[in-house]
Amino acid sequence: MSVRDEFDAWAADGRDRGMEERHWHTAKHVLSRMPVESGDAVFDLGSGSGYAARALCEAADAGRAVGLDGAPGMVENARAYTDDEGVEFLVGDFDALPFVDDSFDHCFSMEAFYYAPDPLHTLEEVARVLRPGGTFYCAVNYYEENVHSHEWQDNISIPMTRWSGPEYREQFREAGLYVAGQDNVPDRETEIPPASEFPTEGFETREAMVERYRDLGTLLTVGVAP
Ligand code: SAH
Repeated sequence: MSVRDEFDAWAADGRDRGMEERHWHTAKHVLSRMPVESGDAVFDLGSGSGYAARALCEAADAGRAVGLDGAPGMVENARAYTDDEGVEFLVGDFDALPFVDDSFDHCFSMEAFYYAPDPLHTLEEVARVLRPGGTFYCAVNYYEENVHSHEWQDNISIPMTRWSGPEYREQFREAGLYVAGQDNVPDRETEIPPASEFPTEGFETREAMVERYRDLGTLLTVGVAP
């Protein structure tokens, strides 16, 4: 199945909003760390429902926020959720970003980067469209150290790349980005039931669920364009 078919189906049955709700637990902390200044142009790679572009304009006062997504259904939904004139959504592919060099001050991506068919090339594309000194805040829940995420590939037809934290840093450098930092952003909002309720559908033990959300959370790698 193509990105378009897979994620158009998600957009059609409301999974774009479902993801927004879950991802917001950590995404809001990532967004609030971005050094966005009033009037900046920002880019969201794999924008889904478009919450990041909306938030960057509303809360960080970005002048222009562009979300790119390969699924037209996602783009259509994202457009319908806002009437902010600074916010735009485009259909496009991670392989070839439809922007000239140095187009953006900052770039964000949440739970999307690992779907890139050629992730190193996508990093090079992000580096290309960022102006010198621009940052890339790349957030993922699917990564090697998060053993609880490993089975996710079984439920989706798009091939996913599972790098470790060190591999993210190496590949950022390989693509020409400096690595300004990397850390785990905990999800403190997903409710964790008492131990007596385990095993649950997703977790054998309470400890495993605590590890997944509170300890591992979202892996954030921050790159800076030279
Ligand atoms: N960032 C959003 C959406 C995450 S889902 C959130 O946090 O909720 C991942 C999104 O990336 C999907 O909307 C999907 O259509 C998009 N995507 C996946 N692979 C892509 C590719 N190769 N090119 C463009 N978009 C892609």
